[in-house]
Amino acid sequence: EVAAESPLLQHLNPEQHAAVTLPSEHALILAGAGSGKTRVLTTRIAWLLATGQIGPGNVMAVTFTNKAAKEMMTRLAAMLPVNVRGMWIGTFHGLCNRFLRAHSKLAGLPPAFQILDTQDQLSAIKRLMKQHNVDDERFPAKELQWFIAGAKEEGLRPAMVETRTEDDRRKVEIFQLYEEQCQREGVVDFAELMLRSYELLRDNDPIREHYRRRFHHILIDEFQDTNRLQYAWIKMFAGPGNSVFAVGDDDQSIYAFRGARVGNMADFVREFQVAHQIKLEQNYRSFSNILDSANALIAHNKSRLGKNLRTDQGPGEPVRVYEAPTDMAEAQWLVEEARQLVREDVPRHEIAILYRSNAQSRVMETALFNAAVPYRVYGGLRFFERAEIKHALSYLRLLENPNDDTSFLRVVNFPARGIGARTVEQLQDAARAAGSSLHDAVKSTTGKAGANLAAFVAKVDAMRAETEGLTLREIIEVMLQRSGLVEHYRAERDGADRIENLEELVNAAESFVTQEGFGRDAVALPIDELGATVLRQSPASQGLDPSLPEVNEPAPDYVPPDAETGETLSPLAAFLTHAALESGDNQAQAGQDAVQLMTVHAAKGLEFDCVFVTGLEEGLFPSERSLADYEGLEEERRLMYVAITRARKRLYLSHSQTRLLHGQTRYNVRSRFFDELPAHALKWLTPKNQSFGGSAFGFGMGYPTSRGSSAGYGRSSETFASPPVPPQKAEPAHGLRAGMKVFHAKFGEGTVLTLEGSGQDARAHINFPRHGQKWLALAVAKLTPVP
Ligand code: ATP
Ligand code: MG
Repeated sequence: EVAAESPLLQHLNPEQHAAVTLPSEHALILAGAGSGKTRVLTTRIAWLLATGQIGPGNVMAVTFTNKAAKEMMTRLAAMLPVNVRGMWIGTFHGLCNRFLRAHSKLAGLPPAFQILDTQDQLSAIKRLMKQHNVDDERFPAKELQWFIAGAKEEGLRPAMVETRTEDDRRKVEIFQLYEEQCQREGVVDFAELMLRSYELLRDNDPIREHYRRRFHHILIDEFQDTNRLQYAWIKMFAGPGNSVFAVGDDDQSIYAFRGARVGNMADFVREFQVAHQIKLEQNYRSFSNILDSANALIAHNKSRLGKNLRTDQGPGEPVRVYEAPTDMAEAQWLVEEARQLVREDVPRHEIAILYRSNAQSRVMETALFNAAVPYRVYGGLRFFERAEIKHALSYLRLLENPNDDTSFLRVVNFPARGIGARTVEQLQDAARAAGSSLHDAVKSTTGKAGANLAAFVAKVDAMRAETEGLTLREIIEVMLQRSGLVEHYRAERDGADRIENLEELVNAAESFVTQEGFGRDAVALPIDELGATVLRQSPASQGLDPSLPEVNEPAPDYVPPDAETGETLSPLAAFLTHAALESGDNQAQAGQDAVQLMTVHAAKGLEFDCVFVTGLEEGLFPSERSLADYEGLEEERRLMYVAITRARKRLYLSHSQTRLLHGQTRYNVRSRFFDELPAHALKWLTPKNQSFGGSAFGFGMGYPTSRGSSAGYGRSSETFASPPVPPQKAEPAHGLRAGMKVFHAKFGEGTVLTLEGSGQDARAHINFPRHGQKWLALAVAKLTPVP
């Protein structure tokens, strides 16, 4: 019984132990919050590796947020000497991106395809609607965006969508046009990442077989929140010899509104003939006052699979409840409590402030800022979504791909250069008529407007020429100056923060290139080498097709080079991908201990010593929209269950009688959830039945107007600036130097322009007179020096 002796298994209870050591067959672990599901999943990976049953390349593990994926890697790295960064552990989107980069040609995408985030997608749709005179009252852009994403998440292409009404047909038409536009511009949205990979796996037998042979084990965390497409995608990897290990909690299903199907659990059991189902009922996370509250609350839901949770920990502190007269007072109270906790030596990152919707964070951010408490916002307006950053990224994208119309439109008149909306419309008409990109259509414009457009294009083209062969950092620096962005913000009254953010972008790029960028809080692994040599198996020995890309190389945000030619993304293209996928959560105040702010949705799967759940008011939490139907209310209750069960030691619940939201003061009734919690576990800091009415207070108080959030990033310069850059090794192993002549089997003779990275990640920028400039991964590309 070698397995039983493994130290990995020592701290597991019998059910967990059984789950970790199940034979390689399909399994479902269904268990409540804090019962160790993620721990079991991670330990199983470690156990499979440690007992030599598989190598790191044979596992694929999927979860929902970047933060959760990183958490999983950190936990795994703590158990085992293995290079987790090279493993296929990530979010659905992250893994799909990786997959599509490896097979871009087969997927019908340009190798340097760019990713549209939700905002970009919306503006692309708006642009399209304008072009085609779509009535935006009848078809609001947001609704179309929802429609398109919804269809794709069901696995549907335009032709497959059922249409009953004239409106339906119009929507599908726009969907079709939108797809054509994306294809033309070489961009994909988030849902497209999933759908494309799914279709490629479905339609290409050798590829599917390859991955089935590769991934012996597929493990999925938070399975209750998978949608139809994600489930279908998982099925593609599951051949007769693979085992799927799904863990989930039906009580924590909180994405039904986005198409998640708890029904996937039942389908999974049936379709996979799941042999092993294990329940975990011991909660290791929370004291019993917290756990009792969660249990009592969720008992009010009718549709449940039915589970219980118990804990051996004592009652702990009571759950503290606070009623504030105004949202500002609520914020001030929680800031005071948080400072008290810090005085009691609670690390700031162990304090989480949760809320139902992003709009609620502003008041709390202001209060934290005024009290000089460092904080960090997850989700919401993220670093890479800030306007100034998006402008900068648009210029960068145009350097990479002049035909990227979304980027073109974003900056054609930013900073202002006398190009009006009318001119842009005419340009769009011309482009549509010619079936060309906006960039190419500029040639055909005339007059003063045409001259301004031509000047813009010339500026970008000149920038491209000027940045040729420069490092990523230098490219960004040149772009910031030449684009006029820095100058523009310098002239703005409150532009200083924005300039700091732009400088931050240089730092972000720097850390990306030096590979620290995967997360300053990334898993630092002195044991990389050991793990790589002990645990890596050669592809051939695993019966894998050696002609397909070896996708298990250790590199952050790894995008495998083309298997045949070794062609890979330029550092700029790789960075832009990173920017689109990165939730920005390691950009802020890296290294500084900060209070964590996030929506309840974003907190799923995480745990903190102290948790504040704020804004517990009818209409807010549970949200207005959910109150219309019973299922909506049950989903809100599950969300509240998720919120409560994030806390290990202390839980605070608060609500406010009045709240300024979307520019209006609202008078709110305390959330019904308070009445569903056990009285014995609660301690009311304010009298429970205090009447509300609001006339005596809070009205017309000076609500802070400055967003204050810039502090989250703005003040970070002192902690974030100039990351230590590891010195480049003087003599790289590949022996190439800039200026050297080399020969490539497909591209012929060329000249090395620049070299980047080292070891497995070394890349060269090479000019091939007959094929143009290429970035090649030296580990893959076969280059011979030409004397
Ligand atoms: P959630 O549903 O919120 O995602 P979960 O079921 O995934 O929760 P984990 O995050 O894996 O739960 O575990 C909760 C906490 O309990 C973690 O801190 C974990 O380390 C701890 N834990 C789990 N099992 C044990 C155990 N057998 N002994 C001690 N601590 C444990
Ligand atoms: Mg978990």
